[in-house]
Amino acid sequence: MSKPVPITVAHGDGIGPEIMAATLHILKEAGANLEIETIDIGEKVYLAGNSSGIEPSAWESLRRTKVFLKAPITTPQGGGYKSLNVTIRKTLGLYANVRPCVSYHPFVETKHPVMNVVIVRENEEDLYAGIEHRQTEQVMQCLKLISRPGSEKIVRYAFEYARRNNRKQVTCFTKDNIMKLTDGLFHKVFDEIAAEYSDIQNEHWIVDIGAAKLADTPEAFDVIVMPNLYGDVLSDVAAQIAGSVGLAGSANIGENMAMFEAIHGSAPRRARQNLANPSGLLLGTVMMLVHIGETDVAERVHNAWLRTIEDGIHTYDIYEEGKSKQKVGTKEFAEAVVQRLGQMPQTLKTVKYKSTAETAPVAQAARPPQARAKKELVGVDVFLDWTRGTANDLGGSISQLSGDGTKLTMMSNRGVKVWPGGHAETFCSDHWRCRFLSDTDGNGVSHPQIISLLKRFADAGFDFIKTENLYNFDGERGYSLDQGE
Ligand code: NAD
Repeated sequence: MSKPVPITVAHGDGIGPEIMAATLHILKEAGANLEIETIDIGEKVYLAGNSSGIEPSAWESLRRTKVFLKAPITTPQGGGYKSLNVTIRKTLGLYANVRPCVSYHPFVETKHPVMNVVIVRENEEDLYAGIEHRQTEQVMQCLKLISRPGSEKIVRYAFEYARRNNRKQVTCFTKDNIMKLTDGLFHKVFDEIAAEYSDIQNEHWIVDIGAAKLADTPEAFDVIVMPNLYGDVLSDVAAQIAGSVGLAGSANIGENMAMFEAIHGSAPRRARQNLANPSGLLLGTVMMLVHIGETDVAERVHNAWLRTIEDGIHTYDIYEEGKSKQKVGTKEFAEAVVQRLGQMPQTLKTVKYKSTAETAPVAQAARPPQARAKKELVGVDVFLDWTRGTANDLGGSISQLSGDGTKLTMMSNRGVKVWPGGHAETFCSDHWRCRFLSDTDGNGVSHPQIISLLKRFADAGFDFIKTENLYNFDGERGYSLDQGE
């Protein structure tokens, strides 16, 4: 027998320990060849005073094994606790989150009998960069960061995944009609990379109507690639409409490491009652077995699981009077899967895994060295905390600060132009943006000019809360215009 593959296991919180015990029991009986290192993460670690929810020794184990099987954890309520899931994904560079959402009609109730969608979610960027600031009494800010390399990695991963898994189409969801620079970049990269995969169809949907279509007609989709937030929300929707959030597993893939889990959380209300469905974690584990090359064990477990579902042996979340045969707890469900190891489903499609790892990271094409775009500083947005009057009052005062080569060209409040020529109906908060450009058309501005402008703001007693430099890249505007500008 070959050497056992080292993996790191965390039993998690809430229903985590029960579904992990059930999963490990099935793995053992199925003959998985694993050397398990156990780590503690989650609630216990948080409450012991570690605000990240993970001990340094746990990182060592993860770096050693490079494969992490993780049960869900509870993030304690209240400020100060960072989401451990986000920390792990970002620290280990797990850029791709792969979530297959499959319906098991007629054995599990669903309105979508032929649903088989894989959501590939970008896992490191977007609003989950977690960069938030309170800027004024009234306004909080969260920065949405989308990078070209981050978008290229996830989009290429989605196309490679489609090719390796015989999928025919990759769809991209964004909101680039509104967020023209951030989501616009993701969409642009999608179009560029799609052109390299002529064997795979591609399409783009605006996320709102795309989400509506997904909830209504999921069979119209095959693989869907999305920025982080849309992927987080819509993969739960997709899993739930396929049958239950309790049924879907997920893989988090990085260049050198991977983490496998259920998509659901720790469901604390269901904990310690032998109620929870271990299927999501088990199917995440099947993805792990494929990833580490134990494809025969992955097939045995997956087919036995399908057979158990077909035989109507169901936990409470998918049990239905008249359709299911037996309502079972977590342990009994696991035992039923063990009894069916070696059996195949009779109605549902038997699973066959190729020997190549289907979720493996993809080699990212080395980009030919590209000349950096010519970056030209053309102005600055100065943001103010101000409550002492109307937009016209403020415009009057701030235009006095023009000079030294820069001039006030417009002011906005929450993205709507309010000066010059604002509308009296526009609601104004205490958060104002003052846009200064060069006072000579076609000229740039310099850092010293911006510093002297800020000094004039300070001397006039204005509370500037931040600045954003305005750049053109190869002559193309690198900042958004305001509504009404
Ligand atoms: P949840 O997914 O834990 O549970 C929502 C509901 O779904 C439960 O009340 C239960 O009715 C059902 N459910 C979920 N999994 C099930 C299963 N395996 N079997 C049967 N029913 C199941 O979502 P929540 O209640 O919003 O979150 C609870 C905790 O989990 C929070 O602390 C949250 O931060 C955490 N969480 C962790 C992860 C993770 O570790 N990956 C993911 C999401 C949420």
